Amino acid sequence: MIASSNPLLRHGQIPQFQTITADHVEPAIRQLIATQDTAFTALQATATPTWEGLIEPLRRLSEPLGFAWGVVNHLLGVRNEPALRAAHECVQADVVAAAMRLGQSARIHSLLLALQATGDLDVVQQRVLAGLIRDGEWSGIALTGAARERFNALAVEQSELATCFQNHLLDATRSFALEFTDLAEVAGLPDTARAQAAAAARAAGNAAATAEKGPWRITLEMPLFVPFMEHATRRDLREQLYRAFITRASSGPHDNSPLITRVLAARREQAQLLGYTDFAAQSLSGKMAGTVATVDSLLAVLRKSALPAARREWQELQDFARGESRDPGLQLRHWDVAFWAERQRESRYAYSEEALRPYFPFDRVLDGLFELVHTLFGVTVRPAQAETWHPDVRFFEVLDQGKVIAGFFLDVFSRPAEKRGGAWMDVCLDRCRDTRGERLPIAYLVCNQAAPVDGKPSLMSFGEVETLFHEFGHGLQHLLTRIDHPEVAGINRIEWDAVELPSQFMENWCFHRETVRGLSRHIDTGASLPDELFDKIVAARAYRAGSQFMRQIALASVDLALHQLADPEQFSATVQRIWAENSVLPPLPEDRFLCSFSHIFAGGYGAGYYSYKWAEVLSADAFAAFLEGGVDDRAAMTTIGRRFRETVLALGGGTHPAEVFREFRGRDPAPQALLETFGLVVVN
Ligand code: ZN
Repeated sequence: MIASSNPLLRHGQIPQFQTITADHVEPAIRQLIATQDTAFTALQATATPTWEGLIEPLRRLSEPLGFAWGVVNHLLGVRNEPALRAAHECVQADVVAAAMRLGQSARIHSLLLALQATGDLDVVQQRVLAGLIRDGEWSGIALTGAARERFNALAVEQSELATCFQNHLLDATRSFALEFTDLAEVAGLPDTARAQAAAAARAAGNAAATAEKGPWRITLEMPLFVPFMEHATRRDLREQLYRAFITRASSGPHDNSPLITRVLAARREQAQLLGYTDFAAQSLSGKMAGTVATVDSLLAVLRKSALPAARREWQELQDFARGESRDPGLQLRHWDVAFWAERQRESRYAYSEEALRPYFPFDRVLDGLFELVHTLFGVTVRPAQAETWHPDVRFFEVLDQGKVIAGFFLDVFSRPAEKRGGAWMDVCLDRCRDTRGERLPIAYLVCNQAAPVDGKPSLMSFGEVETLFHEFGHGLQHLLTRIDHPEVAGINRIEWDAVELPSQFMENWCFHRETVRGLSRHIDTGASLPDELFDKIVAARAYRAGSQFMRQIALASVDLALHQLADPEQFSATVQRIWAENSVLPPLPEDRFLCSFSHIFAGGYGAGYYSYKWAEVLSADAFAAFLEGGVDDRAAMTTIGRRFRETVLALGGGTHPAEVFREFRGRDPAPQALLETFGLVVVN
């Protein structure tokens, strides 16, 4: 195949999505790997410890494969088909191996260190360099002999442990099911939940199952488990299900307990080989928070406010349940909490997500979002032409003072047959300005809301509106970057605990009255969302906030403590102690939730689970700057909006996030705004 005829080789340009097929994948990727390897071998001989002699050539040789592989992975998410999956599988291991070869050259690593020692780089260049050096160090590049071998063996072991942990959890989750044939057993379940339970029964081989007549199958998978715990009136069945849930993957062939000890021990040993006291110290050294002590003190502040609130919420729920059940002796147990919390929520904030939909036609919401972005950041969004992967997908340009500065694809409608669930923002092209010229940033924004049917517009739930704002926030940080070096432009290299700042910041606007008025226009009457409904949405957001906070605080504390343990065999006692300090209703003695805590044992959240709360603190505090400035004062909003643009959105990964935040806010982040948003009393 001639190089130029394969669209995956057109690096640096907007992908030709109508032209790209599965047949392009293997030849393009193989060619790009070969070219990259050749160029990298050559560079190791010719590189000099200068920006132009080292960093730019590394960028030039690695970008084409990164771009093509990015496009392939994107298509796998939005236009999945067997041929594409097969092509992807066929080259995936080779792509991973090629990336590892780039990261494991001792020669390049020593040149990076030499370049760092010269000291004549600007702040952004230093960030690029520090990132590359740390990648090398954390892959053990500076280790030699037996230490290097041990490090590599631990790395292999850890990736096997993670896979095994996840597989145990999946198998254990699948191995349990309750199948009901009596309508009384599923009493209380909403129609949608009954339909899902019948679908699960059909999938399990009971072809005749219907939502009305059953049988209904309930498993430990979230979409079936959660509605049952929230709605099923049969307390004994909730208990049975709950007990199965908290002991998942904790015994028999799927027991994750021994794996937990091994994961903790391997992480600790690797961290110590790299010179850290423990894995928590290593993890934090690469994050915005910086040290375990900083996170601990934040969690302590949040706990002070949240724990009394959680105690109060518990008492209120207990009283409510006693009243509603007409059983003054009722003692709430673990399997009652979700059920009674849902009843209490219904009684306090009676409105349904479905009732809100007519107020949020997709096109109105999108226009409202673009208007907000224009007011805050001074940029204009307009439709533009580009090849897309589906007729529903739109392409937009972002203009600043009449000049196009970025572009993005927007793919919002669900297509279950070919598109994966959830919502995400991803990078198509990074912004770059170097000796080759200038390249504009291009993003993918993907959601999964209901598609328009019979010519009627897509009506969004409030949650879908929040999701769109969230992903758009990520997108803005990519699109409005002013960084010329793609390695740290936009969202690249932003510390894990700071990356959700702009996304959650944008979500906050969904709870701002004027913004929501502008976003909403009833599909039949044209009316914007009534104040009374808006007030309920805002109040419902803070419902049981103390309890929700305490759960996240407990999980974050467990995660950090486990990754500092000198003796990983002792994990169980540590978990029990922390849980006792952080809960109103201590877990049952047989609770083994740790065996299903895949975020930290099989995902990227090890010694980083606190990031959820950390990012909420940042985004609430950033949003509070607008509230303090007088959020209904347009001039003030514009001034603060521009400052947000020039700091958080423009600097991205090019400056340490603690410094970026200080530049925006004039001080370090503080948790008061988050606590107040959720109606929690600030305790000093
Ligand atoms: Zn996000």
